[in-house]
Amino acid sequence: MPTDHPASPSAKVEPLRKTRPCPECGRPSERSHYPFCSDRCRNVDLNRWLSGSYAIPAAEEPDPDADERGTL
Ligand SMILES: [Zn+2]
Repeated sequence: MPTDHPASPSAKVEPLRKTRPCPECGRPSERSHYPFCSDRCRNVDLNRWLSGSYAIPAAEEPDPDADERGTL
C-alpha cells in the first residue's frame, strides 16, 4: 500500500522555540536576554557568579608557620 503521507505535516512544523523560565525569577525568558527574562536578571546572575568566584570561602587552615613569622 503506497503511503501518500510519509510524515504528518504537522510533525514537521516546529513550534516556537521552547522558552525556558528565567533562572532568576522564573518568568519566561526573552530571546534578547536568553536565558534570562531581562537584562537585569542577567546581571543579577552574572554578579552572583562573579562575586561567587571572587568571594572564595576562606579556608581556615591552621598555618603552622604563622606563629613563627609573627603577626607582621
Ligand atoms: Zn528574570
